[in-house]
Amino acid sequence: MKIIETISELREQLDEARSEGKRIGLVPTMGYFHEGHLSLMEAARAETDLVVTSIFVNPLQFGPREDFDGYPRDFARDSMLAEKVGVDLIFQPSVGEMYPEGATTTLDVGRIGEIVEGAIRPGHFNGVATVCTKLFNIAQPHKAFFGQKDAQQLSVIRKVVRDLAMNIDIVDCPTVREADGLAMSSRNVYLTSDDRKAAPALAEALFSASALVQEGARSAASIKACVRERLSQESSVKLQYVEVTEENGFEPVENISGRLVVSIAAFIGTTRLIDNVRVDVGTGKPA
Ligand code: AMP
Repeated sequence: MKIIETISELREQLDEARSEGKRIGLVPTMGYFHEGHLSLMEAARAETDLVVTSIFVNPLQFGPREDFDGYPRDFARDSMLAEKVGVDLIFQPSVGEMYPEGATTTLDVGRIGEIVEGAIRPGHFNGVATVCTKLFNIAQPHKAFFGQKDAQQLSVIRKVVRDLAMNIDIVDCPTVREADGLAMSSRNVYLTSDDRKAAPALAEALFSASALVQEGARSAASIKACVRERLSQESSVKLQYVEVTEENGFEPVENISGRLVVSIAAFIGTTRLIDNVRVDVGTGKPA
């Protein structure tokens, strides 16, 4: 496995691979790997010939009061784990390499970036869209792999690829959870042991919501009430939002039909976590 820090060196390596007819898979990440990240790399390993994982804590997607400086980083552990699952190249650029003149040209994804998670984190999805577009331009992958854990991000990326006619296949991978249901996240490391005990309530609330749909509930209000009710039982969990949206534009809906996403954001103590579950009215089951 090679570790690459510059755009020019990555391009050189990938041009060579492309000229040999290899299909390139890209897994963009911010590092501090857990099983969720590794599942994306494994999917890339299975579906493409050369797997590139980028590790870049992107300042553009953090708000001024967010955790950019304190975001967990452990490159030695990350590279060991990536090598184990068969990653070929790690691309780990500096902020200066990615934004040599600052981020002067950026993307604006419009309304999808301003609703639900985007309403709480202004500019976040524009930052994500900008960095992913830049990574796509650098690596020109055949396929890029993203987690359903960040469902709105996935919809944003699909929209950017559609809107800008990028020739990239976006592959979504299911959320990997701890045995008790907690969605794996680099930010779980912030949880105190008491927070950690309360944290599975997020997934439990989402699973109750999807069970309710399975039992025939068809109003978003009843789904949201179910989530609120479950989380109100945990004193250390402060729900920030629960929203039921369609998948493409992430617009909130009132009635349950088709494929939808139930998303939540909550503070557990001082740690902010997000999670979601897909529901499909055909089956009502998490999809
Ligand atoms: P991050 O490093 O948090 O930016 O995440 C990098 C990629 O890993 C994104 O596509 C995430 O959606 C994905 N990811 C994060 N957590 C999980 C998880 N628990 N299961 C599956 N994918 C995940």
